[in-house]
Amino acid sequence: MVLVDLKLQTAQYTSTNQIPFNRPAPVGNEIAYLEDAIRRGHLAGDGSFTHKCNALIAERTGANKALLTHSCTAALEMAALLCDLGPGDEVVMPSFTFVSTANAVVLRGAVPVFVDIDPDSLNVDPSRVAAAMGPRTKAVFAVHYAGFPADMDALAQITVPAGCLLVEDAAQALGSLYKGRPSGSLGDMATFSFHETKNVVSGEGGALTIMRPDLYDRAEIIREKGTNRSRFFRGQVDKYTWVDVGSSYLPSELIAAFLYAQLENLDMITSRRLALFDRYMEAFAPLERAGRLSRTKIPDDTTGNGHIFYLLLRDLEDRTDFITHMRNRGIVTPFHYVPLHDSPAGQRYGRTSGSMDVTQRISQTQVRLPLFHDLGPQIDDVINTALDYFARTA
Ligand SMILES: *Cc1c(COP(=O)(O)O)cnc(C)c1O
Repeated sequence: MVLVDLKLQTAQYTSTNQIPFNRPAPVGNEIAYLEDAIRRGHLAGDGSFTHKCNALIAERTGANKALLTHSCTAALEMAALLCDLGPGDEVVMPSFTFVSTANAVVLRGAVPVFVDIDPDSLNVDPSRVAAAMGPRTKAVFAVHYAGFPADMDALAQITVPAGCLLVEDAAQALGSLYKGRPSGSLGDMATFSFHETKNVVSGEGGALTIMRPDLYDRAEIIREKGTNRSRFFRGQVDKYTWVDVGSSYLPSELIAAFLYAQLENLDMITSRRLALFDRYMEAFAPLERAGRLSRTKIPDDTTGNGHIFYLLLRDLEDRTDFITHMRNRGIVTPFHYVPLHDSPAGQRYGRTSGSMDVTQRISQTQVRLPLFHDLGPQIDDVINTALDYFARTA
């Protein structure tokens, strides 16, 4: 039975010479597994593909348990529930992150306390975290920016004595290492994204990984609408019922089928991206030596996964001119993040601890270059077009 007859080679560019910032690519058995899932006649969550994904994610992250979710946003909401956050509680996190890190906390009525990042790693600065800790701090959410793990040992030295939970927002970090240990097993819990802009994709998708055994049962319950359905399916209870708060955080088997084909190819995906990352690093080294820009810095003790390559330019004007130059030549080079602490919702729901100088500066000078699975030789067009900008504005 052939349900789909798609050319799995990538969609060709329709318009001339446009190089997008990202393009998700099938890499293996996606279509075959989708057909298989459909043939099995089980399309809801927690079927065989979900179980296979859970097992593979646990294996590859070194986590004790992994649960697929429909997004990293959902996994962060689960983590906030598992931290038992409530009104008045505080969670320390970087301001330089995606909104979901903070929303998960705000949805529980708790307060995100934004701190500055380290200028080299762009990850949360442990000394700023230490200074932000107080009697209401219940957790620290550390983001692994660009896939490079935050300094988790330094953070654990702060959270463990304080009795706080340490959560990795590892949305970008599948396959990266800290002191040889994989992201996803570096804190009490971690959250991953399989959104189409990440390394391993299923359109929308995510996972929660857990290290602490005392959180397993409640995680399953929260994910299954507050019921003990997972225990029922394992035969541990003879009927299932509503036992706690929860929501529907599990993806369909169709998502899991697609995702499994991607996860099987994690090493290939990572090495392809690292090759592109290295090519950028090499191409921009002379300009860094000349003091014209800074390249992505690889933090000590980490091995990246080629998720993002960014440049830091002189100032906001330089960055704006660069983006315009690239766009006029058909190349999309976006920036992020607009800092959360001074966004309208960030001001309403959160507060800051300490100065935000690094966050402010990086958010005005950083730009990301296209980096996706089948960018291929077009990386040379990106590099040459960028070098042309720097030659003109030396
Ligand atoms: C992408 C991302 C998210 C959100 O992931 P979704 O799967 O789209 O919900 C959260 N945090 C960070 C740091 C991200 O990069």
